[in-house]
Amino acid sequence: MTNTRTRLLRFGLSLAGAAIVLGAVVAPGVLAQTAPSAAVSTTTTAATTVGQTQTLTLAETEGPYFKANSPETTSLLQDGMQGTVLTVTGQVLAQDGTPIANALLDFWQANASGSYDNSGYMLRGHQYTDADGYYTLTTIVPGLYPGRTEHIHVKVQAPNGPVLTTQLFFPGVAQNARDGIFDPSLVLNTLNGADGSQSAIFNFVVQTA
Ligand code: FE
Repeated sequence: MTNTRTRLLRFGLSLAGAAIVLGAVVAPGVLAQTAPSAAVSTTTTAATTVGQTQTLTLAETEGPYFKANSPETTSLLQDGMQGTVLTVTGQVLAQDGTPIANALLDFWQANASGSYDNSGYMLRGHQYTDADGYYTLTTIVPGLYPGRTEHIHVKVQAPNGPVLTTQLFFPGVAQNARDGIFDPSLVLNTLNGADGSQSAIFNFVVQTA
């Protein structure tokens, strides 16, 4: 299992590639925080991030399949699970750009065939951001189900803040254009890894009170 530090380093490299390769198609805001932990670690550069008003992440409908009490885990992978492995990392930020530690993220999604586990907790899990506001989710790319494009559901909540319920989407999916819930601001900037997996960075901006 790759440790968090290695993963973040890898994502740093991926992000550099993303900025070059996907810069023109990534939704505004998704790549705005290219070096957030560095930016807030010194007073000289903090002003470039903290203090700039961030656009709140768009709320989306919860849908019918949320289940409370998901397990606490950063990886939704299980032995034998079908699908393309996907790692999403990023930060939870306040509107002034401040990273939020201990923010709750609760993810749930369909499997690669487009089915939800409504009897158990497969592909459901919650986690908390670290001291620098970072989260990492390891999962699979969800499949399509009738009426919906590919999406991952998530609830995000700063400590003592309101719950943001939203969804993440995928680039280049034909059904995006026919899904009334789809929004380009919520599209992941996915990169294809050499091993066939995908990675993406997504920052959430939430209300803190
Ligand atoms: Fe759904």
